[in-house]
Amino acid sequence: MEGKELHQHVLGLDTPWPVRDVNLDLELQQIDIYVGHPSGTKFCCPECAQALWCYDHAPARKWRHLGSCRYKTILHASVPRVRCPEHGVKQVKVPRRRGVVASQ
Ligand SMILES: [Zn+2]
Repeated sequence: MEGKELHQHVLGLDTPWPVRDVNLDLELQQIDIYVGHPSGTKFCCPECAQALWCYDHAPARKWRHLGSCRYKTILHASVPRVRCPEHGVKQVKVPRRRGVVASQ
């Protein structure tokens, strides 16, 4: 299995969050994983789950992924925002499963 696919699998990420890049820092014992999304992807309003086009992106954030291996794993993403006709501009929910802890 190729590296990026492996990390995508390990993190439980699926479309629309393909892994764009993986950087392994042996000195820091840290793996940085950068995820993005293909242009033209629709995202759901977090309030009403209506599928909407990406409006813009919130500043890039990072999440610590716990316990995947002996390396510290950091997930990087710019979270898309949608503009819902009912709820206004909202940041979409970030797909993550247990073991991924949000941090700034
Ligand atoms: Zn909405």
